Amino acid sequence: MTAPALRWPVAVLGATGAVGQAFIRHLDGHPWFDLVEVAASERSAGRPYREAARWLEGVLPPSVAALEVTACTPETVRAPIVFSALDAGVAGEVEAAFAAAGRLVLSNAKNYRMALDVPLVVPEVNGDHLALLGRQRAERGWRGGIVTNANCATTVIAAALAPLHAAFGVRQVFVTTMQAVSGAGYPGVPSLDILGNVIPYIGDEEPKIERELLKILGTCDGHRVTDAPIVVSAHANRVPVEHGHTACISVGFERKPTPEQALAVLRAYTGHEAVRGLPSAPTPALLVRDEPDRPQPRRDAHLGRGMTTSVGRVRADHLLDLRLVAMSHNVVRGAAGGSVLNAELLVATGQLAGLVAS
Ligand code: NAP
Repeated sequence: MTAPALRWPVAVLGATGAVGQAFIRHLDGHPWFDLVEVAASERSAGRPYREAARWLEGVLPPSVAALEVTACTPETVRAPIVFSALDAGVAGEVEAAFAAAGRLVLSNAKNYRMALDVPLVVPEVNGDHLALLGRQRAERGWRGGIVTNANCATTVIAAALAPLHAAFGVRQVFVTTMQAVSGAGYPGVPSLDILGNVIPYIGDEEPKIERELLKILGTCDGHRVTDAPIVVSAHANRVPVEHGHTACISVGFERKPTPEQALAVLRAYTGHEAVRGLPSAPTPALLVRDEPDRPQPRRDAHLGRGMTTSVGRVRADHLLDLRLVAMSHNVVRGAAGGSVLNAELLVATGQLAGLVAS
């Protein structure tokens, strides 16, 4: 791992929203990145951050409170590394403008995730897919680039299944998610809709899980990704939980493991070698719980500064081969923290210097 000699200046687009705020918390005191700019919509631009944002959690770092929020353009935001927490309605055009202007964009929006030349990365699982950036620059003529994070529910499922897929070949996935309200942003779901309730629908969530998982678990030859040959059936539910998406997963395999064999693989998992030891990388990469009633979002979502994926209840399944429960913090692991880890991986592997306009 190569630590940078100087901290890179970075910016957050969509800095006033739920994910934008998670970026600000995660970047506070970061050893490699210095948050110097915050940007949001015209509603917020021109105002001090402390006035533009309704700060949701913990202490707003004083250095950020005083920053003036700018518009989301490459002319007003100068940092070479740009973390995007933009609403999908605007992310497409804005992120492309930054990439064309020579910036590295680490996006949380859905717009580019399935593009053939755009890496969709959960760093421990498929950090090697960052190699697609070369093709992206060549084909689009961009001096910078776009790297995307997965949908937050897909992230937890991919993290839990990656070691099992490598060892036994996942072929079928039947998954039911219980997703936190913070996944809908701020102000998000009206309280009278969600308190004491379960909403068995999250717009476009099931198709995202069903297609993104195949790309993340697919193989990359440096130029293209071949999807993993997995059939996925997803049920997505919104539940009255603040943070932490839980996934109950039944899995069918090419080579059927016993629960004990699957547990041994999950426990031994260390993830992509280049990710280990990075500032945002959790240790262990996966936390396997033995208690029969874990993981639970209230107790486990904040482990590893929100970056730990917890897995438990690994047992035989009557429908497919195995079933298990996985959970991680949707706003940190599934969004801001995952993006920062992607940027750390690019820095540590020397892939950033060639990408970003000086
Ligand atoms: P959010 O709370 O609604 O925040 C949206 C942000 O986008 C705000 O900063 C808002 O700025 C900005 N914005 C809206 N319209 C804009 C425009 N026309 N120009 C520039 N900025 C604009 O949403 P969120 O939950 O943080 O989600 C942000 C992105 O991350 C979305 O694409 C979402 O799908 C994705 N994501 C979210 C999660 C999660 O757990 N929440 C997880 C993974 C991915 P103003 O305050 O000025 O309006």
